[in-house]
Amino acid sequence: MSGEPFPEIKSKHSLVAKYVTQPIWEKLSSVVTKTSGFTLAKAISCAVEYDDQHCGIYAGDWDSYKDFADVFDPLIQDYHGISADAVHTSDMDASKIQGTIDPSAPVHSTRIRVGRNIDGFGLSPGITKDQRLGVEGLMKKAFANLTGDLAGTYYPLTGMEEKVRQQLVDDHFLFVSGDKNLITAGMERDWPEGRGIFHNKEKTFLTWVNEEDQLRIISMQKGGDVKAVFDRLARGIQAVQDSVKKESGKDFMLDAKYGFIHSCPTNLGTGMRASVHVDLPGYTKEGVDALKARCEALKLQPRGTRGESGGQTGVTYDISNKHRLGYSEVELVQCMIDGVNTLVKEDIELQKKHGL
Ligand code: ADP
Ligand code: MG
Repeated sequence: MSGEPFPEIKSKHSLVAKYVTQPIWEKLSSVVTKTSGFTLAKAISCAVEYDDQHCGIYAGDWDSYKDFADVFDPLIQDYHGISADAVHTSDMDASKIQGTIDPSAPVHSTRIRVGRNIDGFGLSPGITKDQRLGVEGLMKKAFANLTGDLAGTYYPLTGMEEKVRQQLVDDHFLFVSGDKNLITAGMERDWPEGRGIFHNKEKTFLTWVNEEDQLRIISMQKGGDVKAVFDRLARGIQAVQDSVKKESGKDFMLDAKYGFIHSCPTNLGTGMRASVHVDLPGYTKEGVDALKARCEALKLQPRGTRGESGGQTGVTYDISNKHRLGYSEVELVQCMIDGVNTLVKEDIELQKKHGL
């Protein structure tokens, strides 16, 4: 461990290249975290291996954020644009949301997810095989306590029929393997063991187990009723949290400064991504770069409809809030609603301009 040479960081313009300097490397390269035996070398594997990373670092456990704070603290402040003494506040009160998506907007569906991780277990890049099975075992018990519209069934990936799995993916409910960053960061070790999906009968309340975070808690439905989706999510998170506490005495990892702890520092804070799938033919004709720039100005992020690594098809986009930290959940959802209404209005003008 100690004396390992300073690696060549291929992503030269990444935040890792900026903050993992030779002196920092010498100070931290032999540190091994207590919970999952994680190291700085493991944390920065994506920035070392690939030349296309913006951030390039993951945490292997909550300890990583503390043990490697010389790297994580300035990097997190830089990425999220927060000050060193910023504190995170949470607000999941759906009644504070003003207005909604214009009912005439071509919105197919709405989805809001948060990441959550349970204290005492490693985060996906570092989590041990035993810990991963421990999380899954605990969640099987915790899910069984959910009632009413949140009640449902847990389906492990191990042994899932291929037809069933592919249908869940095609219907936008289930994660897939194969993301190069997740693989390099160590998140697909022992795949598919310990992974699975919980959902209610309507598939409007779902939880992914042991993907990029231990838990991704999701609320989604057809159409653009963001308030209803947000309200269900708030109730669902609370119910899962209470149930985990009841079964194990454990809490979600929550840091005063960084909010909910996630494996990727870009998700710190709320860990929330509120999105709609919406048709934007005008912007498609104008060019995806124009859409990207406009989203940036509106604090939004465009993705393709097959997920972050799945790519773009046709004129339908996944438009979500860009920020996670430094804003409350209510503010982020509001930002998405207002921004999508703006994009849809502008798209109508662009359609006229291009004679669509
Ligand atoms: P995440 O931020 O949750 O990791 P991804 O970009 O990886 O999101 O997408 C995960 C899945 O969620 C994909 O199948 C994607 O199509 C689906 N998804 C995201 N937003 C929506 C939405 N508004 N409606 C329907 N499905 C969605
Ligand atoms: Mg993802």
